[in-house]
Amino acid sequence: MAEVKILVEGYTNADAKESLETTEEKTCATITLVRDQNLVIIVDPGVLESQNILIDKLKEEGLNISDINLVFLTHSHIDHYRNIGMFPRAKTLEYWGLWEGNSSQDRPESLSSDIKIISTPGHSNDSLTLLVNTIHGVVAICGDVFWKENYPELDAYANDMETLKKSRQQVLAQADWVIPGHGKMFKVVK
Ligand SMILES: [Zn+2]
Repeated sequence: MAEVKILVEGYTNADAKESLETTEEKTCATITLVRDQNLVIIVDPGVLESQNILIDKLKEEGLNISDINLVFLTHSHIDHYRNIGMFPRAKTLEYWGLWEGNSSQDRPESLSSDIKIISTPGHSNDSLTLLVNTIHGVVAICGDVFWKENYPELDAYANDMETLKKSRQQVLAQADWVIPGHGKMFKVVK
């Protein structure tokens, strides 16, 4: 069984349009650690005021930057990947493929028997979700398929709202827990 831990809980005030007239927009993606056998994965390295925040969170888990061997991007919006350069030795897995150095190969459908990758477009064409089998059930790390629990149904940044609705249903059908793009984990009500 794989293990999942949120290192930095994502946030955003991009949905508070009224207050944005007086406040600056602040956003960071949820940054998640996934471990399974020899895999040590960061999902969405995010954008932070200081990269030391993430370095300290990794230390709390007994990890250094060099222990991360894969960075998984849920999609290529910069608030989700700004810090990817922190992990120069890790492979990178995104919609377009699995990268190592400057070479890429086709994206696999799974990383282990407990970690599956599914395509969940709608917010963006290149959105992926990681389905992780844990002792608590299946955790979907889905980027902005869900921004956060109880986020307004209309995603103002979505490039195809109808496709996004289908992806949301797909995630909810397959997961027991959801780690959204900008908020804390929530339980799927079946
Ligand atoms: Zn996004």
